[in-house]
Amino acid sequence: RAKEKGRNDFQIFNADMLSASINRLKLENELRKAIIGEEFILNYQPQVDIETGRIVGIEALIRWDHPERGIVSPNHFIPFAEETGLIVSIGEWVMRAACKQNKAWQDQGLPAMPISVNLSMRQFFQHNLKGKISYVLEQTGLDPRYLELEITESMTMDVDHAIQSLLELKELGVNVSIDDFGTGYSSLYYLKKFPIDRLKIDRSFVRDIMVDPNDAAIVATIIAMTRHLKLKVIAEGVETEDQLRFLHQNNCHEVQGYWFSPPVSAAEMERILRENSSKQDAVHQQRL
Ligand code: C2E
Ligand code: MG
Ligand code: MG
Ligand code: MG
Repeated sequence: RAKEKGRNDFQIFNADMLSASINRLKLENELRKAIIGEEFILNYQPQVDIETGRIVGIEALIRWDHPERGIVSPNHFIPFAEETGLIVSIGEWVMRAACKQNKAWQDQGLPAMPISVNLSMRQFFQHNLKGKISYVLEQTGLDPRYLELEITESMTMDVDHAIQSLLELKELGVNVSIDDFGTGYSSLYYLKKFPIDRLKIDRSFVRDIMVDPNDAAIVATIIAMTRHLKLKVIAEGVETEDQLRFLHQNNCHEVQGYWFSPPVSAAEMERILRENSSKQDAVHQQRL
């Protein structure tokens, strides 16, 4: 019986392995086609100054408009694209599309603000990343101060590389932020050595600030620390007015989350920008 069971397990294992590798091959082919056929789109999510209610930045977030499956979330293909190296081409497309869009909004007379682009590990370790970004800025005509690069803590584990690479990027005049802050390896000792502009507090801490005193303490502490380090700080995943009020009371600069707006299409973002730039600050003040 044991032998029989063992044999069955072996077969099942094989079948799973086979279908997994077929799926991987299929996905890789589809991703290659997607890159050539430009099946990717960007959505945009506003980043809001808590004090004034004004939009002060926009994060570009990729989606895959798959011919059969419809809109696919980045969580379902970015890790795979990272594994296979396809992320480098995808990342270049994102960079160009985001800079182009931001420049177009500025040319339409909308308030100028940075657009944030998520960098992948491979991009960050890519040879001549600086040159590539510089070329995109030149091509699109976007002023470097209106581009922000988001990296994660895991990319800073090789401290010497991170400092060197960040210094090079900063020479371009772009901004750099650390995304999902608090979820990775974070050496507070090195944090002050990295030439970064802001921290983005991960949504997993923000989610429970009203119910979990530990999360409330962590968020309040990160905000206080960034203030001391003279960095800007933004809270991700803000969904409720209670969370907003907590963050305001704890002197957080900015918020991003469903409370203000989910990621939206370029056309919708343009509408939100127009409305926001003409809105009275008083309306927002009442809510705090
Ligand atoms: P991220 O950079 O931390 O982006 C924030 C994610 O949180 C987005 O998910 C956004 O839709 C979601 N979010 C924003 N506000 C709220 C909220 O109030 N509540 C909840 N529950 N979620 C909120 P999205 O767009 O699915 O992206 C997931 C991740 O995929 C991103 O996390 C980022 O790590 C990665 N990603 C997205 N676009 C790109 C890209 O162009 N390049 C690379 N390398 N990674 C990307
Ligand atoms: Mg991000
Ligand atoms: Mg994040
Ligand atoms: Mg995240």
